[in-house]
Amino acid sequence: MRCPNCSRGDTGVIDSRPTGARVRRRRECKHCGERFTTREELAREFPKIVKRDKRREEYQPGKLRTSVGLALQKIDISEGRSEQLISDIEELLLNIKEPEYPSLQLGIQVMQQLRALNHVAYVRYASVYLGFEDIGDFIRQVETLQEELARQQVNDEQLSLDL
Ligand SMILES: [Zn+2]
Repeated sequence: MRCPNCSRGDTGVIDSRPTGARVRRRRECKHCGERFTTREELAREFPKIVKRDKRREEYQPGKLRTSVGLALQKIDISEGRSEQLISDIEELLLNIKEPEYPSLQLGIQVMQQLRALNHVAYVRYASVYLGFEDIGDFIRQVETLQEELARQQVNDEQLSLDL
C-alpha cells in the first residue's frame, strides 16, 4: 500500500477493525508519518468455465440470464423467481473452491433449478441450450461427466498417498 502523501510503499497498519465482511485498516507511513485509512473486502471470483471442447472462458452473467430467460419464455413465472434462480446459481459458482467449473455441470445446476420451477422450461433448456438431441443423449453425457469426476477424485487420492 503506497502512502497517499509521499508515494512510498513503506506503510504499517496501526489499527484494524472488521465491519461486517469488510476490514477497516488505519495505516501510517513509515517515511513521512502520514496516516490514512483503507478498507479491504473479500474478493469473490467466479471460476473459469470449462467448455465441452475443453476451452476455458470467463463466466458470463449475460449468457446465463439469456438462456434462463428464453427457457422461461411464455411461462408464467415471475421475474422475481427467475432472478432468484440466477442469483442462486451465481452464489453456487462463487462458493466453489476450485478455479474451474465444467459448463456441463453448470448446465446441470441450471436444469435442476428449472426442474423445480417448471417442467417445460427444464426440458426446453436441456434440449436447446445444452444442445442435446434428446434426454437420453443428455443422460449419457451426465454419466460420462460423473465418471470423469470420479476418476479425477481417485487420481487426487493417489497423489496424496504418493506424498
Ligand atoms: Zn508518506
